[in-house]
Amino acid sequence: MTEFPVRADTLITNARILTMDAEFTEFAEGALAITGGRITALGPVTDAARTQADEVVDAAGSLLLPGFVNTHCHAAMVLFRGLADDRPLDGFLKAVWAAEAAHVTPDTVRAGATLGLAEMALGGVTHVVDMYFHPDATIEAAGKVGVGLTSGPVFIGFDGIDHLPWPERLRFAEDFVARHRGTEGLELMLMPHSAYTLDAEKLREVAAMAGRLGLPVHIHAAEAPSEMRLVADQHGTTPARILDTCGILQPGTLLAHAVHLDDAEIALLAERGVTVAHCPLSNAKLASGMARLKALRAAGLTLSLGTDGASSGNDLDMFKTMRQTAYLAILATGEPDVLPARDIVAMATRGGAAAAGLGARKGVLAPGMDADLMLVDLAAPHLIPAYDPYSTLVYAAGREDVRDVFARGRRIVASRRLVAGISDEIAAVRAVAARIAENAVGKQAKYPIRQ
Ligand SMILES: [Zn+2]
Repeated sequence: MTEFPVRADTLITNARILTMDAEFTEFAEGALAITGGRITALGPVTDAARTQADEVVDAAGSLLLPGFVNTHCHAAMVLFRGLADDRPLDGFLKAVWAAEAAHVTPDTVRAGATLGLAEMALGGVTHVVDMYFHPDATIEAAGKVGVGLTSGPVFIGFDGIDHLPWPERLRFAEDFVARHRGTEGLELMLMPHSAYTLDAEKLREVAAMAGRLGLPVHIHAAEAPSEMRLVADQHGTTPARILDTCGILQPGTLLAHAVHLDDAEIALLAERGVTVAHCPLSNAKLASGMARLKALRAAGLTLSLGTDGASSGNDLDMFKTMRQTAYLAILATGEPDVLPARDIVAMATRGGAAAAGLGARKGVLAPGMDADLMLVDLAAPHLIPAYDPYSTLVYAAGREDVRDVFARGRRIVASRRLVAGISDEIAAVRAVAARIAENAVGKQAKYPIRQ
């Protein structure tokens, strides 16, 4: 136990603290001190009596836990929220890619990502792994909202909506990494889209670049039946196997979805040390399938939770994601005890940080760790009583119960309100949404839309 300091930037008092460390250490009436963006001490509130702080937050009646780490998202895709419902992944992609081609620019990405990141911050997310075109615009949005971000250049085998032919895409990636390495609050990964949008040679080039630059890779893999068919046609094998053949499966590679895997592939992923972003809302809505969480856990893989983009999700809610994780795991196995609530909260916090390669700095409340945390107010009728805080978080609580959020010590949500002003971005999203809707209706529709 670290002794409480005499001085702190921020002192949170009287909270029920869930540290989410490996022993699930709790403090019934706890305090936590923050200085310079880091946690400097935590423990029983009586131990903090001598600490003077610039800001004291009385958290009586609230849970204090690490912020959620959303390990798979496309924040700017809030622009297409609800545009292509009621269809599987291939039909969804057809509609969304057409809308993207017409409307995605750095400006619309900046506005959309700002809304997406704001939505996540208000729901207790303090760090996001985000894959999208024009990543510089998303980085700006994260700086404004205050959420931590893992970003990176996207690799796709055709020109894509950012109009980068392959050689230029490789140059952009190298330049992007050089410009952003060491930026405060920003982590880097290389983000090849998938095995169905990249041929084997290009996958190998990305793997080589990752090795050369010392960066992990984030990629969609084994998401849906349509992907399995496409990859079989293009590569003559499965996504997991072709990614391994091309050198993509390395320690720290973060796979989004990982739904359609046989036993041998699960063993292979464990052997390679890859991690998984489970995205149960997107997987259910697009009829992609149910990930084999029990087998993935038994194999020892690091598991985390992602919302995916709001165009497939259709929101960016980690509470709902936790609950859906429980429901799908129970339905898939017929075992109500297959994944205890406590372990699901761990997937959303400690597991998320570990899966994103940030386990040494985030995901657990402990001295020296980044002060990424949230207060969940237990006062609402739907949270009373709260016998088991983990059960409350997974099965009863929602985003509306998140009271305050700190990211690297900075309060980004205060009394349920976003600290950053984003009215300009909201207006910009409304304006582009009007154009998207106009394109989508009428006889000359460029892409199908449900009325
Ligand atoms: Zn995705």
